[in-house]
Amino acid sequence: MGKASRDKRDIYYRKAKEEGWRARSAFKLLQIDEEFNIFQGVKRVVDLCAAPGSWSQVLSRQLYLPAKYSAESKEEDLPLIVAIDLQPMAPIEGVIQVQGDITNARTAEVVIRHFDGCKADLVVCDGAPDVTGLHDMDEFVQSQLILAGLTIVTHILKEGGKFIAKIFRGKDTSLLYCQLKLFFPTVTFAKPKSSRNSSIEAFAVCENYSPPEGFNPRDLHLLLEKVGSPSGGSDLDCSSGWLEGPNKVYIPFLACGDLSGYDSDRSYPLPKEADGSSYRSLDPIQPPIAPPYKRAIELKKASAQSFNS
Ligand code: SAM
Repeated sequence: MGKASRDKRDIYYRKAKEEGWRARSAFKLLQIDEEFNIFQGVKRVVDLCAAPGSWSQVLSRQLYLPAKYSAESKEEDLPLIVAIDLQPMAPIEGVIQVQGDITNARTAEVVIRHFDGCKADLVVCDGAPDVTGLHDMDEFVQSQLILAGLTIVTHILKEGGKFIAKIFRGKDTSLLYCQLKLFFPTVTFAKPKSSRNSSIEAFAVCENYSPPEGFNPRDLHLLLEKVGSPSGGSDLDCSSGWLEGPNKVYIPFLACGDLSGYDSDRSYPLPKEADGSSYRSLDPIQPPIAPPYKRAIELKKASAQSFNS
């Protein structure tokens, strides 16, 4: 699919380039904020699985830059934004980058050190594994990223703080909901308008972090196991019985973003240039600097060259 064709079929891809976002995902975070006001009062944020960086750009534009250019702000008042990914990412003003695996305890320790004893107001996680197309497998790997995110949350999020995490809707969604509810009294699964209907992705918006009394982060997995076995919807063993019979849990699910706004599943005609000439597609704002497929491209080029010589 050419760039212009994609511009036509994916309005958020086109808008992202026009507005200077590195990825169309920026709109998902902005639309979640429109609905849930997640940035209000936020001074410290962790962006998990941040590359290529459009969510970090949103955090920088919404939190860091306004503070930096406000006449009253002092250096020590500037928001702290820490972004982590397996992949390196081009710099973003006001964002500290950590390259690492969020499922590795050492990465969590590095993040915690940046906070220097202080707690975060918000943790966001847009992590996604390389999707295989096998839904059960993809959902399982995705849930491991959410659990890694939750582990970091239990070390670093202040009481009352918020956690936003990408989820894949599947047969274990209710279990995940119950597990998140252990820590957050309000959990809503949200589908921003910029997320395609055909995609199983949604976002857990978890508000008002309130760990159980006496909770020790080292016991996280024991506690989560008590909620249920991740073996499937029909044989969930939930100690609270929330998921069964008349107590079956209904997950609050909300579409967010201006409903009269752009629909990510529709094609839109391409605009004409101001002088009437035909539309020219813009280049992406920031191509990935070391994508995992880089080596494959190099090998393909090398083999094409040796074939031609
Ligand atoms: N929020 C990003 C943005 O707006 O630009 C897009 C994130 S992208 C959908 C998913 C990211 O998750 C990828 O960059 C990938 O490298 C990262 N990721 C996947 N597994 C990870 C892990 N275990 N630790 C850190 N990052 C991971």
